[in-house]
Amino acid sequence: MKKVRLRYAPSPTGFLHIGNTRTALMNYLFAKHYKGDFIVRIEDTDFDRNVDGAIESQFDNMDWLGIIADESFLKPNPNYGEYMQSRKLERYIEIANQLIEKNYAYKCFCTKEELEESRQTQLDQNILAPKYDRKCWNDRENLKDCNKEYNVRFKVPDNKEFKINDIIRGEVIFSSKDIGDFVILKSNGVATYNFAVVVDDKDMEISHVLRGEEHISNTPRQLMIYEVMNWESPIFGHLTLIVDENKKKLSKRSGNEMFFISEYRRQGYLPEAIFNFVSLLGWSPKEERELFSKKELVNIFDDNRFSKSPSMFDFVKLKWINSQWIKKMSDEDYLKFIINFIDNNRFDISKVSRDWLYNVLMLYKKEVEFGIQINDHLNLFFEDNKDVRLDILSSIDNWKDVVIAFKDRIETLNTFDEISIKSIITSLGKELDIKGMNLYMPIRVSSTLSEHGPELAKVINLFGKEKVINNIKYILDM
Ligand code: GLU
Repeated sequence: MKKVRLRYAPSPTGFLHIGNTRTALMNYLFAKHYKGDFIVRIEDTDFDRNVDGAIESQFDNMDWLGIIADESFLKPNPNYGEYMQSRKLERYIEIANQLIEKNYAYKCFCTKEELEESRQTQLDQNILAPKYDRKCWNDRENLKDCNKEYNVRFKVPDNKEFKINDIIRGEVIFSSKDIGDFVILKSNGVATYNFAVVVDDKDMEISHVLRGEEHISNTPRQLMIYEVMNWESPIFGHLTLIVDENKKKLSKRSGNEMFFISEYRRQGYLPEAIFNFVSLLGWSPKEERELFSKKELVNIFDDNRFSKSPSMFDFVKLKWINSQWIKKMSDEDYLKFIINFIDNNRFDISKVSRDWLYNVLMLYKKEVEFGIQINDHLNLFFEDNKDVRLDILSSIDNWKDVVIAFKDRIETLNTFDEISIKSIITSLGKELDIKGMNLYMPIRVSSTLSEHGPELAKVINLFGKEKVINNIKYILDM
């Protein structure tokens, strides 16, 4: 049996985003599930569209996510040739020449203007999908010695069916009559995508190809090349779209800044969480749970369970998954992680002790959904709230009595710590015969100047005696 080998083949036209991460992950999971190889190949022959920094972004973000290639241009296996298309242009020319020799391809000398003219004529004749008119094939004898610039075109067989057994969609049949002779080598000697991809998948002995559904219309062109070369084609699977909550294709154009992986990193998402979440876009495991480690996903991955309908990008679920992964961290790892997301322009952490800061950060370990969210919470500890909600207190009878009694006790406290504060609150409740909101709210608002916050005794302890007493005085004087 053929070794399982899958590839992720980005064109360096942009940075790693959710869509191509999903493609990379499906290929990765499939390969690793079957103990095969996962290859990264750079498809960079469309020079005008290449973007600086795109290759680095792909590798850097994949590394971060833990999608590690067994082979790539950084880790090449010489048996399989180059892993970047721009480095193997000669190879495509060699195959193109073979195709020309066997009359499966031909030189086309038509200029842009001539092509446009022919297209226009066809449109005028009500031909809805104009094709290349084969002028240069029909004229090939006369054009033999022509030394003008030329493209190489593949000669599409007439009226032939091509079929794939798509892993996701099942049997898909394409008819060649809808397809015109397409360019495989441009006049500058550079191979086009549909041609290079076939040569590479063959050279690299790729067994399965999982890619976005936008490539399904390319597949018959690729099958034609496999056929005439007498090469076995890989097994294809075309992944369904990822859509947002409005059922629109997820893209950077939909105004979604949360499209690029780098943005998730910046905001403090964990690689485990993104790996977990994106891995489940497009298929569902048998088990009805949501949290899976990379190792578990490799184990349970099941290519028979792909969904035929678009996968919904559920942002709420992603945030939940991330919060679960944050909770799973050891306290030490959590602190190391979260401290990086503190906005130093707002909060001067150099002025506070590490211990104190760590205690504050720990209060939110179970609460933050992603790193930078910590800043919404740190307000409480670093900035005095100018808009105290006194109206909340005014609805509570005797709130001043509670606050005054609490202040008196705090002032005389010898050891100001969480346990003593807790016991003061409890005994106060009993003595004054109040509980719940009526007890906690006056204490919380007056001590911390906020009606929100984590566990009361903990917060008061971290505020410190002096600050709490000052806050209470401030409130009583209002
Ligand atoms: N380079 C193509 C892309 O970035 C991938 C094509 C393929 O997987 O066959 O969309």
